[in-house]
Amino acid sequence: MLNTTLARSTADSATPDEAVQALVDSAARTINLHADLAAVLSTNYRETSVQVPIRREDGTLVVAHGHRVQHNGARGPYKGGIRYHPDADLAEVRALASLMTWKTALLDLPFGGAKGSLQIDPGQYSARELEAATRRLALSLSHVLGTYRDIPAPDMGTDARVMAWFMDAYSSRNGYSPAIVTGKPIALGGAPGRTAATGRGLAYVLEAFARQHGWNLTDCRIAVQGFGNVGSWVARELHAAGATIVAVGDVHGGVLNQSGLDVGELIRIVEAGGAVVDLEGPHDTLSSSEVLEADSDVLIPAALGGSITAENADRVNAAVVLEGANHPVTLGGDAVLNERGIQVIPDILANGGGVTGSYFEWAQNIQQFTWSEQQFNQTLRDRMVAAFGQVQAAADSKHLTLREAAYVVALERVAHTVELRGYS
Ligand code: NAD
Repeated sequence: MLNTTLARSTADSATPDEAVQALVDSAARTINLHADLAAVLSTNYRETSVQVPIRREDGTLVVAHGHRVQHNGARGPYKGGIRYHPDADLAEVRALASLMTWKTALLDLPFGGAKGSLQIDPGQYSARELEAATRRLALSLSHVLGTYRDIPAPDMGTDARVMAWFMDAYSSRNGYSPAIVTGKPIALGGAPGRTAATGRGLAYVLEAFARQHGWNLTDCRIAVQGFGNVGSWVARELHAAGATIVAVGDVHGGVLNQSGLDVGELIRIVEAGGAVVDLEGPHDTLSSSEVLEADSDVLIPAALGGSITAENADRVNAAVVLEGANHPVTLGGDAVLNERGIQVIPDILANGGGVTGSYFEWAQNIQQFTWSEQQFNQTLRDRMVAAFGQVQAAADSKHLTLREAAYVVALERVAHTVELRGYS
């Protein structure tokens, strides 16, 4: 097993890229993947880098760099976000592209995996500068994009407004193309339900896990680290399902009440620009990292990558870790949790509701048909529950952790498609 072959210290210092590759390598050994196929799947199909000159309001020029990495498109058009961040260089985008291949395959979506970036700090630019940069990026990458070729989405530093500019620029060259990006404003073909989809997907996966293990969600105490889009939506959904949200934290600190926190009030506070520690009424105050140690049944890290490591995994005080963020548990942390018998529901399964929602948006755009939010949520639930069942079945039959099983299911699917299509 992977966790017995990696020393904890090495495992903790592995970059997310190295961690994903270690998991893919481990899955390749489990399914006896042919070395030729493994070689194809451990490299990217295409990497495109473009210059994006941005004329600043003061007349000076910044020449920024944009990237789009397409990892594997055997199962369908490439799919993955575009992030605006100064550190999002080609190496980072490469790592994130492969993760999307495994996530889309695991959720059984008809997509491959890609990721893109523009290396700027969006907070330092005016709306006009950001719009011009986005239009330039869209046109410079347009030859490798397409409704049936590669479909970007928002990511860190980008949002629905950026997707609207991106779609408009692409459409100006190619004709009206709403399906060229997902995560758009509803008025431009965005899908009602898409914003909440990652958090709701997490809740649906936990419901399936609870059914599998004979748990009742109404008996579950939940701790959530991170109270942004993902954390607040999963808290809202699980609270509505009868679970007790006992601890919540954001970058400023956390709050704890074993009798249950007022989730509606917390959401109102955060939506008004406050922090969860602004909550009034009976509760204890925690530091951000203490939220990870709160006594609970399910801990949901939904803030940053690498928040649970070999150093603090001993202090996790939950029976299950449901990964809301990408790579919130390092390989070293994963080894400790496994040794302690704490089940980890892995990111590529648990937070796959976002890209699944993107699939629904894309499908509606190309059909020129709209779904109700109820249909969106029901279809999301069905797909998340199905994916959980497939991962659980692989874990049971092959004696794997859920994380190992998730990579095995994803790799088998991609490898099978690549073999059917032929690759040399
Ligand atoms: P967000 O920016 O809306 O919220 C992030 C939250 O984390 C905020 O509450 C912030 O205060 C908190 N936070 C930041 N640093 C922290 C720290 N050091 N300690 C405790 N809390 C901290 O982001 P989001 O969209 O909710 O995404 C959360 C995570 O989930 C990210 O890792 C993201 O990559 C991942 N993710 C998001 C989506 C999506 O659809 N939004 C999909 C898949 C994965």
